[in-house]
Amino acid sequence: MENLPKMFGSMVFNDTVMKERLPKETYKALKKAIKDNTDIGLDVANVVAAAMKNWAVEKGATHFTHWFQPMTGITAEKHDSFISPTPEGGVLMEFSGKELVRGEPDASSFPSGGIRATFEARGYTAWDPTSYAFLKDSSLYIPTAFCSYTGEALDKKTPLLRSMQVLEKQALRILKLFGNTAAQKVLTTVGPEQEYFLVDKALHDKRKDLMFTGRTLFGAKPPKGQELEDHYFGAIKPRIAVFMNDLNEELWKLGVLAKTEHNEVAPAQHELAPIFSTTNVAVDHNQLTMEIMKKVALRHGLVCLLHEKPFAGVNGSGKHNNWSLATDTGLNLLEPGDSPAENAQFLTFLTAVIKAVDEYQELLRVSVATAGNDHRLGANEAPPAIVSIFLGEELTGIIDAIESGQAYGKKEKQHMTIGVDVLPRIPKDTTDRNRTSPFAFTGNKFEFRMLGSSVSVSGPNFVLNTMVADILQEFADKLEKAKDFTLELNALIKDTIKAHKRIIFNGNGYDESWVHEAGKRGLANLKTVPEALGSFIKPKSIQLFVRHGVLSEVEIRSRYEIILENYCKTLNIEVLTMLEMISKDILPAAYKYLKELSKTVLAVKQAAPGTVCKAQTAIISKLSALADDLEAKGGKLEKALFAVHEAGGAANEAAEYAKQVIPLMQETRAVADEIESLLGEEYLPFPTYEDLLFRV
Ligand code: ADP
Ligand code: MG
Repeated sequence: MENLPKMFGSMVFNDTVMKERLPKETYKALKKAIKDNTDIGLDVANVVAAAMKNWAVEKGATHFTHWFQPMTGITAEKHDSFISPTPEGGVLMEFSGKELVRGEPDASSFPSGGIRATFEARGYTAWDPTSYAFLKDSSLYIPTAFCSYTGEALDKKTPLLRSMQVLEKQALRILKLFGNTAAQKVLTTVGPEQEYFLVDKALHDKRKDLMFTGRTLFGAKPPKGQELEDHYFGAIKPRIAVFMNDLNEELWKLGVLAKTEHNEVAPAQHELAPIFSTTNVAVDHNQLTMEIMKKVALRHGLVCLLHEKPFAGVNGSGKHNNWSLATDTGLNLLEPGDSPAENAQFLTFLTAVIKAVDEYQELLRVSVATAGNDHRLGANEAPPAIVSIFLGEELTGIIDAIESGQAYGKKEKQHMTIGVDVLPRIPKDTTDRNRTSPFAFTGNKFEFRMLGSSVSVSGPNFVLNTMVADILQEFADKLEKAKDFTLELNALIKDTIKAHKRIIFNGNGYDESWVHEAGKRGLANLKTVPEALGSFIKPKSIQLFVRHGVLSEVEIRSRYEIILENYCKTLNIEVLTMLEMISKDILPAAYKYLKELSKTVLAVKQAAPGTVCKAQTAIISKLSALADDLEAKGGKLEKALFAVHEAGGAANEAAEYAKQVIPLMQETRAVADEIESLLGEEYLPFPTYEDLLFRV
C-alpha cells in the first residue's frame, strides 16, 4: 500500500504531532515529566489539551472521552462533547487541562470486589501520558487509569504502570553494577500474539450458546476436524482476506503495529501478531485490537470469537505474551551479548527470571486464570497448567555447566567463568522449537504462552514485572555489597541455578509423563480457577505486591473476589443457557423427528401390513431413550446449580462449579451431541459445527 506510511498513526496524537503542534517548552516539559515519572503541571496540561482539541476537531471530532480498563476485562468510556455555551447564545469548542488530566465517571456499576460501597460510587480517571491519545468514531480518546474515591486501583492499568516503575528501578541498579550508566530508563517490551475465530454472523445468531456465552455448549463433531492440519498457514479465503485488510487498515490508523496474520491450526481460526512495544502501550493496543476485530468482523457479516474454547474437539485460542526488558539506549537485556561483561549481565537477568518464575509459579498461573482458559490449559493443545521454563539445549547446557562447575560443549569441552569468558553463540532456531512450553526462552525474549485469548494482557505482565523486580532487588542488594563483584556474581548465579533449576523443562509439556515428573519436582499443577486462586491471597503473594507498592492488600482481596465472582457468573450463565437450549431447541427437535419417524412407521405398516420397519424403530427407541436421558441430565444440572447457590461464599460456589457442575455439563452435552448426530438434516435445532467451521 503506497500511502501506508501516511495512514499509519494518522488517528494518533503521537510524538510527531506533538512536536509539530506543541510549543517547544511545553513539548519538552511533557517529555521530561514522562521520563521522570513526575506530575504534569496544570499549565502544561492546559496547552496540551488545547492542542489535542484543535487537532481532534480538525479531524472531525466533536467529543472526548477518558478511556479506561475496569475489572470487566474490556474497556470503558464516557463521552463528553467539547461544546461549551457562550454568553451570546453560541457555542465554543473547549477542552481544558483539568478535563484532560482528570475525570470523574460514575463508577457504581464497575466491579470493585467490595472495595467501594455503591453509595460512594465516585471514581476517578487520571490521564496516562505514556500512552498516546487517539481518535475513534468522532471522539478523542484519552488513555487513563481508574481508581476509587479513596485511591484504590479499580482497573488493569494502574498496577501495570506501578509494576513497570518497580522493575525499572531494580533493573537500573543491576545495570549500574555492570558499569552501564548510559541507560536512564528500562522498559519491559511486550508483543502479544492474538488468536481468534471468525464465524458467519447469520449462523452465529441462531445459536443461543454463542450469543450468550461466546462458545458452543453443544455440537456433534463434524466428519472433519483439524486432523489434517490443512488450515495452519493455509491460503486465506477471500472473505477472510478482505476482513484482514480492513482490520489492518483500522489498526494502522490507530498506530497499532499489526504485522503478521495467518490461519491457525483449527478451521476458521486465525492469528494476528503485532510488532512489540512498551508493555503499557502493548496492553492498550491489544485491547483496541480485540475491540476493532469484533467491530470490523460485523462489517463483513462475520462474528469474531475471542473465547478461549469456542469449539470442543478443535484447538482453542490463546495469546502468546512475548516479553523482554530493554533500555532507552536500545539494549535488549535478554539478548546474549558478545563480551564477557555483556554475557554476565545477560546471565544475571536470565537467572533472575528463572528464580522469579520458580518462586512465583502459582502467581503466574493465577494471572491467566479464567473460566474460559480452564478448557485449554492441560488439554493437549495448550501448555499444561504446570508452569515451567524452556531454555533450549545450548542454554541449558551452559546453565548446567555453571551449576556443576563442569566443562560443557559437545566437541571442545570448556569451562566458563562468568564475567571472564564469552558465552558461545546461541542459535535462535534451537530455542524456538518447543511449542508446548508455558514459558519459553526464544533467543532474546521469553514467550509466556498460558494466556487465554480474551483477557487483558495487563494481569500477566504486572505479575511478571513485579516478581522479576523482586528478585532483581534481592540480587542488587547482594551485589552492591560485594567486595569482589565477579566472585560474588559467580556464586549468586550458581546458587540460584542450583536452587531453582527444577523449573527448567525442555521436554514435551503435553506428555502425560511430565505431569508425574513435575509432581516429583514439587511444581504446582493448578488445574482450575478455584484451585489456582487461593495462591493469590497467600501471605507470600500479598507481601510481594505490597512490598513493591504494586497492589495493596485491599486491592488484592478485591481482585480475588472479582475473579471468583466472574468465574461463578460465567458458569451460571452457561448452565442456564444449556438448560434453555435443551428445553427450547434440542428436545423439541428430537420430538419432531420422533413424531415424523413414528408417523412413517405407522403409514408403512398400514400400507404394507407385516413390514417390520427395523431401521426406523431402532432410531425411534434410541432417540427416545436419549431424549429421556437428556431430560434427566438437565434436571440434575438444574439441581446442581441450585446446590451451588446454597454453597455460601464465592470461593465455595466456585469450587462447587468446578467439582460438581462442570462434569455434569460435559455429561449432558455428550447426550445432546448424540441426539444431534441422529437427527435428519432438516430437524437440526441450530447450525452445526460443520456449518460454523467450514462455511465461512
Ligand atoms: P516468531 O515467534 O514467529 O518466531 P518473532 O520472534 O519475530 O516471531 O516474534 C513474535 C512476537 O514477539 C512478535 O509479536 C514480536 O513483535 C515479539 N517480539 C520480538 N522481539 C521482542 C522483544 N524484544 N520483546 C517483546 N516482544 C518481542
Ligand atoms: Mg509465538
